[in-house]
Amino acid sequence: MQENLKALEAEARGDIEKAATLEEVEEQRVRYLGRKGKLTLILRGMKDLSPVERPGVGKLANEIRARVEGLIRQRMSVLNESQKEERLEKERIDVTMPGVRPRVGNKHPLTLVLAEIKRVFMGLGFSVVEGPEIESDYYNFEALNLPPDHPARDMQDSFYITEEILLRTHTSPVQARTMERTAPNVPVRIICPGKVYRRDADSTHSPMFHQVEGLVVDKNITLANLKGVLTLFVRELFGADRKVRFRPSYFPFTEPSAEVDISCVICGGKGCRVCSHTGWLEILGSGLVHPRVLAMSGYDPKEVSGFAFGMGVERIAMLKYGIDDIRLFFENDLRFLEQFGTV
Ligand SMILES: [Zn+2]
Repeated sequence: MQENLKALEAEARGDIEKAATLEEVEEQRVRYLGRKGKLTLILRGMKDLSPVERPGVGKLANEIRARVEGLIRQRMSVLNESQKEERLEKERIDVTMPGVRPRVGNKHPLTLVLAEIKRVFMGLGFSVVEGPEIESDYYNFEALNLPPDHPARDMQDSFYITEEILLRTHTSPVQARTMERTAPNVPVRIICPGKVYRRDADSTHSPMFHQVEGLVVDKNITLANLKGVLTLFVRELFGADRKVRFRPSYFPFTEPSAEVDISCVICGGKGCRVCSHTGWLEILGSGLVHPRVLAMSGYDPKEVSGFAFGMGVERIAMLKYGIDDIRLFFENDLRFLEQFGTV
């Protein structure tokens, strides 16, 4: 019996040393020490021994069990160590290798133009104000001198949600709201960028487009202030030698009103298809704030005056980049978008 035990220990020692992975060591542990392992079975058979033999065999069996357990622990720690090195070798990082460049996107042309417009006006002391896109008829029309039966309402085909609520057709309601909040204090010096909605769709009109409107209310504001600010703006955006022309026009919320033209960006004023051979391109509408609009917002038109202007961001971008179809802005075609400045 004792001979059997010694032979078993030698066998176990050989097997454990041969184990090349942690999994194989575990297999050997089960083989010798597991519930049905070889040593376990011998220990379990002890009860069949004679009382004389039992203490000696029992002692030896327990010693062998302890030694086999020791061998297993030792083999495991050796293998653990070498597997760690193997893993470290595999995961080695060469910090001198060049990195992988992340893909950088492009800013949308409208974002670029809007940022440019904001830069110019913020440099002149204007602040940026935003307002709701779902607007009441009052702020979208009435507060801007457009009562319900006013024919000029037809100039803007609107999306009505209910009889009183609509998608704003311009960002002017933000001006009305701001004046109402500020009156009777001056100055007001704001630009209002945002999305507006009209029932219009072709190569130069989109049912949703972006506007930037501006408003100044202060003491002694005249047409000269309007002309100075807008001429500077146009030259910042389209170049210092761009010609600017103020052409009398009509808007219900301003009086007098003027449309602003710039010398054609394509032909420089000689006349081409883009400018319909006039040499001029219209880029924004403007005027002195109508006294009635001032009064409705809580200002005394005898005390203060103001000027306002509005432009379509898409139109500015089309002229600046030579884009001939407004729908390109909203089709998310990467071939188009990738042509504009990276971030
Ligand atoms: Zn032209």
